[in-house]
Amino acid sequence: MSEDTIFGKIIRREIPADIIYEDELCLAFHDVNPTAPHHILLIPKKPIAKLADAEIDDQQLLGHMMLKVGEITRSLGIDDAFRVIVNNGSGAQQTVFHLHLHIIAGRSFQWPPG
Ligand code: 5GP
Repeated sequence: MSEDTIFGKIIRREIPADIIYEDELCLAFHDVNPTAPHHILLIPKKPIAKLADAEIDDQQLLGHMMLKVGEITRSLGIDDAFRVIVNNGSGAQQTVFHLHLHIIAGRSFQWPPG
């Protein structure tokens, strides 16, 4: 289990966030510092520090979250073109050590990513 983070405080409603989806396993809210017109963070309620720390017991949770990406993007009307990013580790620019999926849409994208 990871240390508490700002996302743990958002899950417990100790700090505010613009929440757009919640169920028993996960929570989605707008990124406070968006990099695109749509920038959603989807997090598990279970405090997994980073993707590489997920275990076999998390298989259902991770699958659930990937399916929620489709549901959330459809609800926002951005399901035709979006990007999902998981930064894993400080070397990959992860700054909050509670697993999160960035869902980004509404601007042009380049490939390969930076
Ligand atoms: P990372 O760099 O760890 O992949 O992404 C962390 C993300 O969390 C960043 O995009 C950052 O803007 C966002 N973030 C950090 N603190 C807060 C906060 O208090 N509220 C919200 N909504 N987003 C945050």
